[in-house]
Amino acid sequence: MNDLTGMHWTEDTPGYDEERRGYQRLDPHRPTHIVGATTRDDVQRAVRYAREHRLPLAVKATGHGHVWPLDGGVLITTSRLDRVTIDPERKTAWIEAGATWQQVIDAAAPHGLAPLSGSLPGVTAVPYILGGGLSLMARRYGFAADHVRRIEVVTPDGELRNAEDDPDLFWALRGGGGNFGVVTAMEIDLFPVPTLYGGSLYYDLAATPDALQAWHDWAQTVPDAVTSAVGLIPFPDIEPVPARLRGKYIAQLQVSITPDADGPALVTALRDSLGEPLIDTVKQRPFTETGEIFDEPAHPAAYRSRNLLLSELDKQALTTIPNLAGPTAKAMCIVGIRHLGGALSNKPAIDNAVGNRDAQYLLSVLTTGGNDTSDLHRAILEPWTQYAVGRSLNFSFGPLTQAELRETYDDYNRLARLRTHYDPTNLLQPNHPITGRQ
Ligand SMILES: Cc1cc2nc3c(=O)[nH]c(=O)nc-3n(C[C@H](O)[C@H](O)[C@H](O)COP(=O)(O)OP(=O)(O)OC[C@H]3O[C@@H](n4cnc5c(N)ncnc54)[C@H](O)[C@@H]3O)c2cc1C
Repeated sequence: MNDLTGMHWTEDTPGYDEERRGYQRLDPHRPTHIVGATTRDDVQRAVRYAREHRLPLAVKATGHGHVWPLDGGVLITTSRLDRVTIDPERKTAWIEAGATWQQVIDAAAPHGLAPLSGSLPGVTAVPYILGGGLSLMARRYGFAADHVRRIEVVTPDGELRNAEDDPDLFWALRGGGGNFGVVTAMEIDLFPVPTLYGGSLYYDLAATPDALQAWHDWAQTVPDAVTSAVGLIPFPDIEPVPARLRGKYIAQLQVSITPDADGPALVTALRDSLGEPLIDTVKQRPFTETGEIFDEPAHPAAYRSRNLLLSELDKQALTTIPNLAGPTAKAMCIVGIRHLGGALSNKPAIDNAVGNRDAQYLLSVLTTGGNDTSDLHRAILEPWTQYAVGRSLNFSFGPLTQAELRETYDDYNRLARLRTHYDPTNLLQPNHPITGRQ
């Protein structure tokens, strides 16, 4: 019988609460055992232990994407399994399961290289990639999952495998989420992008009601070097919100442009169409500071969100968003729209499970606090259902039905078959479990 190795907590061990919790504060895990893995052997032993004792098993990195609480069982935490090794010649990084994007960015930057990291560098790279991965350079280079070379994974049978030697497993892990094993490390591509031209333009929607439409008009004209988004945020009238934003309903236009395009000229065109913003943080910045482009909060919070992937943005439907989601909504509600298309629509060199490549926009609705706001989410998304081509896995912060999960993939049935093949007893409890049932 296997024993657990690595750091170990049970309910009465000091530090248990801190270890089981993550960025998402809703419904934290309540495991019987927590294994703080520092090596892949710790992961393998924990998987074997759970298997042999017939205990459910979950994995937590930083917990941004946490959905289902584990009740009993074994929780593997990966934050200490965080080494990053750069190969500047091959332009790759070998990243362990718990490395955050900021750790990867900081290791790659001295070589003039950058990864396909997202808006918040505190997110863990491996789970982000397992869910597809929409980066700050998404329209230029495609999904992060399209640029994975190797994956080391402990499958639910307790075996350590190189997924690239098993075409089905390699396909499923790149976009299919955490359903097929516990990944211990990955090799990913890096890109010669030492700087980005990026930041945010903040407009008061009361004074500039056409900010959303102007961004949309502009986004339709830009090259693939431009990846942009907009956040509609009702800022509270309190510190530490910057004085110029306090108490205002803000459109935050978030822009990131790779060095192969004329960033200043492109952003000037956007600024000219709207006038001076309240705050303008757009500038040439080293890749190490790209977390400031979206400038999202790094502190833990309770939140739920739903999203739709869209074929287009309808002018009329755009006008409904501020009315439904603005400061009078029943909960603090942030609507985000990300511009997709570009290289995201290209098939990768080796096919993977990422779906909905034809989507042109991602519309997500996020509410904070612990109350059930699913009716608000549905009301805001309802006018858009006629344009929906699917859903995004990574931006679903809350339980999905199997019918909704099916909409995140192009080939759900293949994923369901592979889930049964690799995990016939449903040992793994991922954030979005594929069950194969309706
Ligand atoms: C503020 C914010 C900004 C974000 N920005 C972006 C963005 O720009 N682009 C984007 O694509 N996504 C983005 N995300 C979503 C993010 O990629 C997902 O939440 C993702 O799940 C990563 O979360 P995490 O690193 O905290 O992992 P966790 O929440 O700890 O893990 C999420 C799930 O992944 C699985 N998992 C974790 N580690 C492993 C492992 N080693 N092996 C197998 N399965 C594992 C588990 O099922 C786990 O439940 C953002 C999220 C937030 C909260």
